[in-house]
Order: sequence, then structure tokens, then C-alpha cells
Amino acid sequence: MRAGSFIFCDSQLLVRADAPFTPAEKGALDLFASPRTVAESFVMRPEGVTVYALAGEPGAAPNGYDWVRLRMMLGLGLPHTAAALRALGLLNWRESHRFCSRCGGALEEHAVEVARFCPACGHLEYPGIAPAVIVRVEKEGKILLARHVQRIPHLWTCLAGYVELGESLEDCVRREVREEAGIEVGEVRYAVSQYWPYPNQMMVGFVAQWQAGELKLQASELTDARWFHPSELPDTPPKGTMAWRLIHGAY
Ligand SMILES: [Zn+2]
Repeated sequence: MRAGSFIFCDSQLLVRADAPFTPAEKGALDLFASPRTVAESFVMRPEGVTVYALAGEPGAAPNGYDWVRLRMMLGLGLPHTAAALRALGLLNWRESHRFCSRCGGALEEHAVEVARFCPACGHLEYPGIAPAVIVRVEKEGKILLARHVQRIPHLWTCLAGYVELGESLEDCVRREVREEAGIEVGEVRYAVSQYWPYPNQMMVGFVAQWQAGELKLQASELTDARWFHPSELPDTPPKGTMAWRLIHGAY
């Protein structure tokens, strides 16, 4: 990889303006108009790229550079997208794993593995991934979309939720659809997946077939849910998101 550094601030990545979504070269930190405080930095293996997290707000990018959100890079087939997602995921992990979860001692870098270890008790901490499902539920040529309490209120999107201990991904799809929409689904088929570093999710997309029941919404989760024909879709999340791919059949 030719890029020399991933410079993040508030989860936004510094990219070159003349080469869309190409991360900054080594030394780009020196180009800011005023010196920036580095809150965290590390060399990502095996790429050898240095990853920085700047403190504060992104502010103005240096001349010839822009700040972008990683979701803008998704779905474009760029060679460094996966590395950028991993860099942000590792930054998030490092910022929340400074101390041993077993004894509270300060963690140190592992010499070989992508991990941190505790000199006091020997405990190893690896970066974790939280699996979550997102599902396109189909019924008689229509798909189920909902407006969520916790998300952007005017957007209609797929049902989704975190996998609980002890259940399979398919179990999770059935439970989430039952809990949030009050219906039962039959066939559950894997469609597509995507890492999502906000802060560390593995989004696993499924297509499920309605089997029984009328919509009965969980008010704490959903403000509305309806069946939509693909030719009459409401406002949905933007391209690059898992929801967009599932809603538009891009999987
Ligand atoms: Zn420890």
C-alpha cells in the first residue's frame, strides 16, 4: 500500500483531495496550519501504516486534503477501504482497552500479535467484534421497513439488532423480527456482511420470508413499520450502508 498514514479525527479520515479517498502520505501531520495534539498512534501490522487519532474537532484540513467519513468509501471497490476500516476499529479498541479487564493493571503492547497483555497477571486482550444482524423481510413482493426510535427519524430502514449469547445468527434474526415487529419469519438466508467500526460491529445481512402474524410494533424500538413495494420506496439510508444494499437488492 502506497499510503503512509491514516490520520483520524472524530472518526473522520484525512484524504488527499487530488486522489479521491486516498489516505495521507507520511509526514502529512506536519501540514496542518497549527500543530495538532495526537491522542493515540500506533503502527498497524502487517501494512506498516502509522495510524493517528487527533484530539479535538477535525477543523480545517491542510491545503490539498479533505476530511471524509469512512462510509463514503464503502461500495466503491477502493483498495485501502478494508485497511482504513480496520485502522478505525483498532483505534476504537485501543482507546477503550488501556487497562486489564481481569485485574485493572495497565496493558502493554504484544510484541508479535495484534493484542495487548497485562504484565501483572498475564491476561491477553484481543480486539473484539460485536456481531449484529440486519434483515430484509419479504412478504408477497414487498419488504418491511421501519422508522427507529434511536435513529434518524425520517429514514425507513431494515430491522437490526445485536446477537445475544447462546443464539445463532438465524435465531437472532427470528427473535429481533418477533420482538420488534410481532411477526414470525420462515426461511432465513444469509445475504452479505460488512465490518462497521462504530465502534466494532460485524453487520451480517439476511433475507427472511414472512410466515405468520400482523405487524405489532415494539414502541421502545420502532415508531412505525410498513410493507413497501420496491417501486415505491420511502427515504432510506444512503448508498454504502448495509441497509441500502439489502433494501435495493445489491448483494
Ligand atoms: Zn491483569
